[in-house]
Amino acid sequence: MSRKIFLCAISNISSGHCLEDCRFCTQSVKYGADIERYYHKPVETIVEEARRARECKAVGFCLVTAGKGLDDKTLRFVCKAADAVKKAVPELGLIACNGTANVEQLRILKDHGIENYNHNLETSERYYPNICTTHTWQERFETCENVKKADLMLLTGGIFGMGESDEDRFSMLHSIAELDPISVPLNFYHPHPMLPLENRKMPMEEALDLIRMAGKILGESRIMVAGGREFTFGDEDYRIFEAGADAIVIGDYLTTKGRDPRRDISMLIAHGYEIAENCHDR
Ligand code: SF4
Repeated sequence: MSRKIFLCAISNISSGHCLEDCRFCTQSVKYGADIERYYHKPVETIVEEARRARECKAVGFCLVTAGKGLDDKTLRFVCKAADAVKKAVPELGLIACNGTANVEQLRILKDHGIENYNHNLETSERYYPNICTTHTWQERFETCENVKKADLMLLTGGIFGMGESDEDRFSMLHSIAELDPISVPLNFYHPHPMLPLENRKMPMEEALDLIRMAGKILGESRIMVAGGREFTFGDEDYRIFEAGADAIVIGDYLTTKGRDPRRDISMLIAHGYEIAENCHDR
């Protein structure tokens, strides 16, 4: 039987006005990257994106907001967007990704149809102060714990290629394993001239080894290759599935363009993979 691959799409519903200083992120106002910035994407646009994502076989749809975490206004907006998407495209599994959150806020999201919450550890506890000074790694870990307390499914992963050591990579994957997430989004740093990190592309073989290592450490979780797939693997991205990935993000990312999802679907079929019909498919 062929392996099933899960497709997920993301919508940046509130973009680019973040006061945090994450050194990998063009949405921090600190670095002045030339990206689209807006507070609230119109709900009709979000619903339209969700419809298109489902037409392109996505089973998950992630509502992402820039900023350190949920405040009352953002929470209301995410709930409104979730209600509208759930009503229009009920087949999509909804994910929210809105930064730091407490259990009460997460339960409210759940009441509005959010089933999963994505909050990445980004890197190891030791290395985190090198990539962000405005909040702590511990705070990130606690939000992940809150997701579980709120009875939501947890997605947590990180970014490779930000100058971290092999030990940091290993340590991050073990911290993720402690949280036992349903899915682990792995991102490969995509350099931007306005960001302070080194402009370096990770060699493909190194990136494939990291996917293999994640699979070994995180046996039961779904391994998703998210940002940086096109940049790091080019047209050889079929190799990520041989290395153990079983999910990808399709379409555009938060501030960078992705590929036409039809190309990804053709690539998967050409390499003998099936596309999962829903989030809980096995
Ligand atoms: S908190 Fe999120 S949106 Fe803000 S700079 Fe960090 S990664 Fe970017």
